[in-house]
Amino acid sequence: MKTIIIIGDGMSDLPVERLGGKTPLMVARKPHIDRIARDGRVGRLRTVSETGPADSAVANLAVLGYDDTVSKEGRGVLEAASMGVDIGPGDVALRCNLICLEGPAEDRRIRNHSAGHIPSAEASELIARLDQELGGGRGPLPVWFHPGVSYRHLLVLTEGWASSAIGCAPPHDHVGQRADDLLPRPLPDLPGAEAEIAARTAERLVELHRRAAEILADHPVNASRRAAGLDEANSIWTWSPGRRPSVPTMQERFGVRGAVISAVDLIMGLGVYAGLQVIRVPGATGLHDTNYEGKAQACLDALADHDFVYVHVEATDEAGHARDLDLKIRCIEYLDERLVRPILAGLEAQGIMAQVAILPDHPTPVETGQHGRDPVPVAIRRPGKTPDAVQVYDEVQAMQGSLGLLEGDEFIRLLLA
Ligand SMILES: [Zn+2]
Repeated sequence: MKTIIIIGDGMSDLPVERLGGKTPLMVARKPHIDRIARDGRVGRLRTVSETGPADSAVANLAVLGYDDTVSKEGRGVLEAASMGVDIGPGDVALRCNLICLEGPAEDRRIRNHSAGHIPSAEASELIARLDQELGGGRGPLPVWFHPGVSYRHLLVLTEGWASSAIGCAPPHDHVGQRADDLLPRPLPDLPGAEAEIAARTAERLVELHRRAAEILADHPVNASRRAAGLDEANSIWTWSPGRRPSVPTMQERFGVRGAVISAVDLIMGLGVYAGLQVIRVPGATGLHDTNYEGKAQACLDALADHDFVYVHVEATDEAGHARDLDLKIRCIEYLDERLVRPILAGLEAQGIMAQVAILPDHPTPVETGQHGRDPVPVAIRRPGKTPDAVQVYDEVQAMQGSLGLLEGDEFIRLLLA
């Protein structure tokens, strides 16, 4: 039996006043997702704890039944994996944003965390220049800059000199605040030797921020962005430090060969650590205009040589963060019509025996625009398994389902064990 897990990122929600107390899942037209619920069993899954971080890395890892061993190492190492950058055992990796600062030199503030969503081509020119001037693994405290997508890049502190015990500020959480107050610093209360290494690491990072700003200020890419009235990429911002994690793969845990399909580096990266093959789909954007049909086809194709495919769609989460109710409903309907429908139809047409599960990783309610902590609704359709009484898929019906409230690795064991 093959297995498909479909993730509508941030798809579940809270009752919305404008919808008469219903949720986007309750009003969206989604006959194919409902069919999974009607022909299958329904319940809920706890993916984030009451107190821990409610981010997508934690939540997607929880769906796969992993604890926070991987996610606590931060985005740097996760994204490095998806970028194909090898992180050595003594290395520390950090996310390195290109950001836009504004204001006079003594009072520089974060204008945005994305340098105005700078295009990848411009950004990679800047990152290449920074690596040439400051990185390239040269000197006594060697670092490397690696270009990623848009404003999202990677800084690797190599060859064992650095600590990951550094307090860093995610720049998207500090827009409008003074940059100098938010620079990397050693975590408090570290044991003696670690405190010294952490202090040196933080000092080196602050120096890199300062020298990068000098190089970026005069770069032709920024000169032309300035001339065009666009936000400049006039600073780097390093955050989310970590080391290479080590966890058993899905194959080691369950004896299955798996694949992951996503537009998001973070998800592809955690797939790499879980031992999944990363399948890249052209036109997968992470937004409402993503290539749903391409992902559905890639999923069906992947079943030929994989036991299990994890298909992740980011669009619903982005709509939640944008607090755009209509867009969120539309994204659920796209997911239903353009991804779930062709997957179910393809399985039938090709006579493939597969169980199909659908769920979000966490809620992203449109009224808060932030990730929520409520357990997420789950539906699993398994050929030959008697369905429960639940007929549609939403947050309220999920409470009536026969699966109850799943915790820890109960969900993934239900599918794969
Ligand atoms: Zn998410």
